[in-house]
Amino acid sequence: MKIGISACLTGDKVRYNGTDKRNSELLKILKGHELIKICPEMTAGFSVPHEPLEIRNGKVYSSLDRDVTKKLNEAARKCLEMIQNCDLVVLKERSPSCGVHLIYDGTFSGKSIEGHGVFTRLCIKNGIPVYSENDIEEIKRKTVGT
Ligand code: SF4
Repeated sequence: MKIGISACLTGDKVRYNGTDKRNSELLKILKGHELIKICPEMTAGFSVPHEPLEIRNGKVYSSLDRDVTKKLNEAARKCLEMIQNCDLVVLKERSPSCGVHLIYDGTFSGKSIEGHGVFTRLCIKNGIPVYSENDIEEIKRKTVGT
């Protein structure tokens, strides 16, 4: 299968604070499949590190209150082109770009709420199945033996 994946989950140090979120269990399950790495925030041209971003009232703001919605929406569209032929995507939970079930609540206080990141929303709108790193069992069912 061809699978789109948040670059930070594979070990790329592309997060806002210069770290990664490598997930060995996930990578083990996905071994043998073709992985297409995407990072909407890198595609948007953010440097690493950069100030954290969160969604508030449907828009994306940096912790310095910069409105980066347009920049991130454009990047999400570019990333969608990159994963257009993928069977599914696995994205990093809680990110304002990649969050699947949860995102931070826009107050930069570490609180999560239900919601989708900008890129996730676009994938769903385009009929691409989306999972997070917390959906291990579902991902196993979808990918094992294929
Ligand atoms: S935008 Fe997505 S891929 Fe990039 S660092 Fe954030 S969660 Fe990871």
